Formats: sequence, structure tokens, C-alpha cells
Amino acid sequence: MAYILDTDIKFLPGVGPRRAELLQKELSIGTFGDLLYHFPFRYVDKTRIYTIREINEDMPYVLLRGKIAGFREVSAKQKRLIAMFSDGTGSIELVWFKGISFILKNFRAGSTYTIFGKPTSFNGKLNIVHPELEDLVKEESKISSSIQAVYGSTERLKDMGLGTRAISRLQSALLSMALPRVEETLPPYLMEANRFASLQEALLNIHFPQSPELLKRAQDRLKFEELFYIELSILRTRTRRVEANNGFLFSQVGEKFNYFFHHNLPFELTAAQKRVIKEIRADTGSGRQMNRLLQGDVGSGKTMVALMCMLIAADNGYQSCIMAPTEILAAQHFKSITEMLRGMSISAALLTGSVRKPERRKLLEKLRQGEIHLLIGTHALIEDAVQFERLGLVVIDEQHRFGVAQRGKLWEKSEHPPHILVMTATPIPRTLAMTLYGDLDVSVIDELPPGRKPIKTVHFFDSKRSRVFDFMREQIAAGRQVYVVYPLICESEKMDYQNLQDGWEMVTQAFPAPRYRVCMVHGKLKNDEKEAAMQEFVRGEAHIMVATSVIEVGVNVPNASVMVIESAERFGLAQLHQLRGRVGRGAEQSFCILLTDVKLSADSRHRMEMMCSTNDGFQIAEADLKLRGPGDLEGTLQSGMAFSLRIANLGADSKILEYARRVADQVLQADPLLTDPKNELLLKTLNKPKNDNKDYSIIS
Ligand code: ADP
Ligand code: MG
Repeated sequence: MAYILDTDIKFLPGVGPRRAELLQKELSIGTFGDLLYHFPFRYVDKTRIYTIREINEDMPYVLLRGKIAGFREVSAKQKRLIAMFSDGTGSIELVWFKGISFILKNFRAGSTYTIFGKPTSFNGKLNIVHPELEDLVKEESKISSSIQAVYGSTERLKDMGLGTRAISRLQSALLSMALPRVEETLPPYLMEANRFASLQEALLNIHFPQSPELLKRAQDRLKFEELFYIELSILRTRTRRVEANNGFLFSQVGEKFNYFFHHNLPFELTAAQKRVIKEIRADTGSGRQMNRLLQGDVGSGKTMVALMCMLIAADNGYQSCIMAPTEILAAQHFKSITEMLRGMSISAALLTGSVRKPERRKLLEKLRQGEIHLLIGTHALIEDAVQFERLGLVVIDEQHRFGVAQRGKLWEKSEHPPHILVMTATPIPRTLAMTLYGDLDVSVIDELPPGRKPIKTVHFFDSKRSRVFDFMREQIAAGRQVYVVYPLICESEKMDYQNLQDGWEMVTQAFPAPRYRVCMVHGKLKNDEKEAAMQEFVRGEAHIMVATSVIEVGVNVPNASVMVIESAERFGLAQLHQLRGRVGRGAEQSFCILLTDVKLSADSRHRMEMMCSTNDGFQIAEADLKLRGPGDLEGTLQSGMAFSLRIANLGADSKILEYARRVADQVLQADPLLTDPKNELLLKTLNKPKNDNKDYSIIS
């Protein structure tokens, strides 16, 4: 018999075909199960009754008890009904735009009511639009609770009468009809060991909490379950990969690596670089396919590690490629890598969107013949026309810029999956990295090359800009160069470019030609214009580069010693840290100056303080994660995520995440293939097709 939760949502009383279609479109709810797992995002305590004097517009939904003094219909542009509502401490207007005759028919002036709604401010006065009148609410739901769930909805759904209250009613109908037939999804031994709420109990309480304690119990169980199955799936994929043993074997370190090491390596490797190269060497020499995340703060020397690993690949007769997120960065890698390989019989090539056709054709032919050992490029590398003779190692730089699907395409270019090295400067706590990126081993370069002076970071309000300009003049007089960065939240937003243009005028006025040279780089420039401006700065001809966060990744100008970030409050911590990493690359003392508006939210102030107090990217990321949840981090990493979470939060629930991972690990240690009858349920749940359209197993 078909499982009740797989039933089409249109068969739920109160839904029907039209609403079903909309639920599918707007919230991806197609079945009973999808609706049950559409969890509330907030709860409102309906046991607490507020007084009108206490409430303000920042409050979410509140419950008030008082008298309706009288109704007044207003038929201006839009017809509306207004009621004066007072409770002895004050009065407030209740407003309805729809259902006016219904309200007039059912409610009486002079009577006392309990109302429920969100206070908003209108013309400086508080009011509540479309409040719910409690007398009605009571008979609406078969199942009820004094803690009211609030559900995510959309404008279109609300127009169809499917706001949070209606969704709550549907949940009530669904639970009373289907709950007894919902099957448990965790095996008894895990349930008992953890004293978890049963799935039925948890689903009831997540929608209609019978008490705060039972709500917490429901959340704990559902969060655990969600994270546990993700971890189980990831760890199982990993076990399979390790056991498949079908990686390319880089059995030797040969003449190319050794020649480079003895003749071309321009500096001593740091201990951390050496350790990571050893780790990679061990992986690639084991017969297993490597899948490794390399984390290292900006400037820690990840490129050198990648290059040396590519030399090992070449020593074993394999080609490798490195994919960078921007043309500028790819070109810079190509330039520094070819310089580093001088005098060696190894051929490197650059492939980006701007390589012209005839040249591209030649390049692709050579690649197919195996004459190019090392291909450097942008996402142009992913195109089908790009075929290798023997691709053994794929390096992905600043990986959060690429989506999972994009990355996947690269390793399809080889019969066996090549070894993968994913490099990122966005520090991600270890557990989180594994969760976000799946089946990865993690290496960390936790040391900067010697001789770097820590960057000094200071925070000023805009009003001090002229002092900042004075400081810039001093630094330029001392021979240094300066970045001035403007936020660009959305590349197409006119507003943002206006900021940049205004900034450009201000800077060029304060630093007039011919004494000063200022160049500008942003995403709307054509590639060659961008390149020209960039080069002007790289060659030291321009004193100041005015830019958007385009420069966030990659550019390397050791002589630049000042980073001025305008409207710094508009950047997230991870991005601020990345931007700061553009300076401090040479021997001189470097500075990062954060300029903000005087009015700062507590959150922004905290970010500025954090930036001023430490240079350690991991510390910044950890603190950010603890304090505010993955926020920024999750934002930047979203494209790399292989799944979406319904209830758990990677920041706030990191303890549950770690626990879930440990339990998943224990389960698989004891029963790697999940063939033990007691794990039958786990296997069944894992193999159940997800309509998430995100596949856990194809994570890089
Ligand atoms: P990132 O990890 O941010 O990609 P890069 O690979 O661009 O860092 O390295 C930053 C700079 O440090 C480069 O100029 C590089 O040549 C230099 N570098 C890398 N490793 C060392 C080292 N061991 N000693 C000195 N300089 C190094
Ligand atoms: Mg780099």
C-alpha cells in the first residue's frame, strides 16, 4: 500500500488542484510529507497577553485583550475598515482591507475581544493590520496549542488565502488524518540510546507545541535526524571511495619535481606547506582517489603547494589543470607559474573566455595530444570541447565561487576520476567544511611565509575621511600604493555603481593629476579595459586603485600597503578579511582602514571590532559562526552546498552536528555496508529518492 506521506497534496481537504499547483511552485510542497516537513520558522507564545502601552513596532506577533470602541469605514483610494481598540492602558487602530462585511457581521462595538497580530507603525502611530480575533480562531483547528507556529509563505500564496494561519490549519487537518500512520525513521536502538522523541511526537509538537519542553524535544530530534542522515550519506560515500581504490597512482617523485625544488624554488617552503605537500603526496601515492580541501589564509602560499603537486602529476605522466574564478586571477597564475617553470621542459597554457578561436583550436588539439602538461584557466575549462589526454589532477582555486555542478563537470573529463584539490582562503571550521563539501579530507596551511608584518587595522567614521586621505598621501610619498574599495552587493545595481562613481570623483579631486595617478577597476569594464587598469597598478604606475570587490580574490601587488574599505558595514566578515588580505604581501608595514557611517547596528560594530582585534582568519570565522550563525559564511558558501537544511542551523546547532557525525561514524564503523538488520531502516531512508534535486553523492 502506498505510504500516506507520499499522497499528492491536492487530496488534502482544503487544498485542491489550484492551491496544490501554487504550493508546489512557491514552496516545493507536492505531497503530504512535504507539507509536514514545512516547519515553522518561528513561534509566538499565546499565553502572554500584552498591554497596548507595552507594545512597539519592533515586536513580532502579540496578543492583546481589550474592547472595540467602534467601527469606521473609510472609502478613500482603497476601501478599509478601522476599529478603535483599547485596553485601559492605551488605544490602537485595527485595520482591515478585505473581509470587511464579515468582520462587521461577526463583531460588535462595545464587546471585549482577544486579538492577535503584528504591531506596525503608520504615520507615526501604531496599528495592527488584519488582526485575528481570538473567538474565531478557537474553532478553526482540531489540534491547537498555546504556542503558535508561524510559517514561511509568499505573497502569491497569501493572495490565495494561504498565509501562516491557513498553513497551520492545513497542518492540523493533515496531522489528525495522517499522524498515526507516519512511520518512524530512526531505528529503535538509536531512539533508545538517545531517548529521542518518536517521529510522531516530534511532528505533532513541531507544529503544535504542547509545551516549551516538548517543542525543544521535537526540535532536538528533528535536527539530529536531519544532520545524521547527511553525515551518514557523506561518510558512506567516503568509505566507498576509499575502498574502490581506483585512483590514479602517482608512484614516484621524479625529475621535474626535483629539478624545480633544487633550481627554481624561489624561497624556503614553510613547515605548513611542506606538511600539506606530504599529505597530498601520501594520498596520490596510495592508489585511492584524492578529494582534498586545502584551507589557508590569504597569502599563505597555496599556489606553490598546488604547483608542486602538479609537478608530481607530470612526473607520473599525467596532465593537470587549475581553475580560477576570474580571468584576472587565471592570468596572474599563468604568469607566475610560467616564470617559475623557466628552464624546465614542461608546457603550461592559459585558457579563458577571451582566447580567440584559431588559437583556442590549436591549444585544444595540443591538450588532446598530451603536449600541454599544465592547463590554467577559468570556467572555460569546463566546456565540452576541452578534452585531455590523461587528466590526473584538478586544482580548484578559491572554490566557493564555483557551484557543485560546475565542479562535477571537470572530473567527468577523465575515465577515472582525477585527484581533486580544492583550495580556499575562506576559513571554514573543520566540521562545517566536511558537512558543506561532503566527502573531503581537509588540509590546513596555518602559517604565513616569514617576514610578513601583521596588518594594522583601524576603524574610522566617514567624517574622518580627510585624515585618511592625509595618511594616504604620506604613504604614497613613501612610495607605497593604495586600494580604495567600494561595496558592490549586486553587479547590476545602479546604486552601487553610483557609489563607485562618486567615490572616484572624490578620490580624483583629493588626488589630482598629474601629481597622482588613479585607476579604476570594476565588473562592468570590458576584459581588456580591466586588464589595462590592473596592469597600471601592478606595474606601479598608478598610486591608487579605486575598485569594487572585484579585487577580492587573487591580485598580488606586494607594494600596495594600504587598503581603504568604504562603507565597510556593508561587507560581511569573510569578505572584509579577504579584502584585507590584498595588502601585507610585501616587507613594509601595511594598513587596513575601515570607513563606516556613524550610525552602526550592534552587529556591524561588532564586525568592525573583530576586524581591528585580529588578523587570524580562522578566529574571525569561528567567532562569526558562533555569534551569528553561518550568516555570511553560508551566503558565500551557498553555491558549494550540496543540500539544503530544513530545521538545523549550521552555526547554532554545531554541537548537534558534531554529535550526529560521531554517531554516523560509529554506525558505519560497526556496519560499513549497513547490512545488519538493525540498520535496515537507515539504508531504506538513505536510498529513498530526494525531491530536493540535490544529490548528496556528487559532492566534490
Ligand atoms: P594564497 O594562499 O593567498 O593563494 P599565494 O599562493 O598567492 O597565496 O602566495 C602569496 C605570496 O607569497 C606569493 O607572492 C608567493 O610567491 C609567496 N610565497 C608563497 N610561499 C612562500 C614561502 N614559503 N616563502 C616566501 N614567500 C612565499
Ligand atoms: Mg590564491
